[in-house]
Amino acid sequence: MYQFETIIHMRRCLVLFLALLMTLSACTQRSIDHVSFSKGEPHSSLDFRQYFETMSTKYGPCTVNIQSDIFDSKSAQHLFSSITEDLHSISKTTGITVDDFSPFTIYIVESAPIGVERYDNLLYCTAEDVENRNYLADLACVALNIKEYWKAFGLESCILGRKADDTLLKSIFEKTNDLDILSLFISYFTKPFANNDEIQLAQQTATAVTRYILEKYGGKALLEEDCIIYKQEWLKSIGVDRPYSDPLHDDLRSYTFRRSAQYPLIAVNDHDHRFYILQLSDMKTAKAVRRFLYDAAVGPQKVLQFITEQAPEHYERIKERYEGKLDIYCSTTSGGSANPGLRRIQLQQSYGYLHELGHILVPTLQSGKGLDPVWQYEGLCEYLSYMIYPANSLLHSYYEDALVLYSKTGSDPGEGKSNNPANRAFWARVTEIYLKNAPLPNDAESIDLPLFISSMAEARVRYPEELKESIWVIPINSLHPLIDGNDLTYAQAFCFSRYLIEQYSFSKYLDYCSNLYTFEEAFSKPYSELMTEYENKIYSTN
Ligand SMILES: [Zn+2]
Repeated sequence: MYQFETIIHMRRCLVLFLALLMTLSACTQRSIDHVSFSKGEPHSSLDFRQYFETMSTKYGPCTVNIQSDIFDSKSAQHLFSSITEDLHSISKTTGITVDDFSPFTIYIVESAPIGVERYDNLLYCTAEDVENRNYLADLACVALNIKEYWKAFGLESCILGRKADDTLLKSIFEKTNDLDILSLFISYFTKPFANNDEIQLAQQTATAVTRYILEKYGGKALLEEDCIIYKQEWLKSIGVDRPYSDPLHDDLRSYTFRRSAQYPLIAVNDHDHRFYILQLSDMKTAKAVRRFLYDAAVGPQKVLQFITEQAPEHYERIKERYEGKLDIYCSTTSGGSANPGLRRIQLQQSYGYLHELGHILVPTLQSGKGLDPVWQYEGLCEYLSYMIYPANSLLHSYYEDALVLYSKTGSDPGEGKSNNPANRAFWARVTEIYLKNAPLPNDAESIDLPLFISSMAEARVRYPEELKESIWVIPINSLHPLIDGNDLTYAQAFCFSRYLIEQYSFSKYLDYCSNLYTFEEAFSKPYSELMTEYENKIYSTN
């Protein structure tokens, strides 16, 4: 009896024990392998332009949505456990717990034509991308709310156990004359702006700097926006004793980046201004792309600042025009232009940005003439890009391709950049006129830009026969030559606009451009009289 009871008791214990074991294993299995998916919200977005139904589940801050068309329960379990494993790898590498990650959503889609895509906290990839861990860098970005590409790449390297070659990095950073690549800006990872060697250097450096920060300061330090001090320290740690600073960093913070099949880099700022970037003749390198985006952030701020000070009554309206959505496309096939109605800019040269933006801020008003250029607006846009904020590549083009080149040839057209001898003759004359008034500057930044542009204006007036075949003497609008001022070149329009702005005021000039007043009402004299006055003044002093 006693024995029997003991046996029963033992059996009960065993049953209980087995039941407990089963429950426990069921729990572990449920959390890792047997997660249940339910029907989620259908997907539609303006960024990832595919509509589909989803099956959805959650893991802490992570929502996994699988496109219904490719959903099958078994592979969904497998995907889910791969993703959770990778999240734990990110957590282990950074020391930040999964529960502390930012909320984000992964869409597993049937087809991702340009590879893994990421928009804020949404990540799009295929099941293969998860399988091959192609999505790991982007997963780190959405999970940790990282904006900088280099940190994502560096984290991926650390998770995958990639090592950087510090000896090689030391030898490169000791010698290179420009430390801009240490900014690890996204253009340094992007073809065709960066070549294979530069991309490798950027990747190695990102890996080394990330590892340095993680090992010395931990994952939270890597999430700080400004890692310049860590980069300085890292440089020292590999034995390179050079100062590093990054004055461009703060003004580039507002951009986020994406890409498309056509554009290797698309930069989007806080106002949803989208820069669709291609290589342009004055923006070929990773450094030039970075500098362009810096100028495109700072230039408009300087313009708005100038308007607040000089024409406050026009400020609100112009600011509103600046802040609306805007698309800026680089074009390698046709010229620069702006369409205020469509809010679209096209750039053939990156330095044309502020000029074209000027057309959006103060649209050309001329009844029945559509988008035809009219001198006062062209003069205004030139004023913004010469007097208020000259782009870096503009200064370099005028300095290197004109002043430096032609100061060696004298008035002989020589072997300049243009195939057209009249264009080369033009730059030779411009250089000659400039150097009569000022010495050759020591560098591009010291160029006297207003003098350079007025030399362009003067060359046309002084050498009409010699330069008549040059594109630089073509009037602003030969289709509507009867409009006073449309017979001027862009450089001449700039000079005359500058004269009016300085004689009267910027505010009066904007009144005139807003069609509030006629020329005579705004400047109290007819065009022909003021033009004669201006010409007498500038040419009598020469
Ligand atoms: Zn224009």
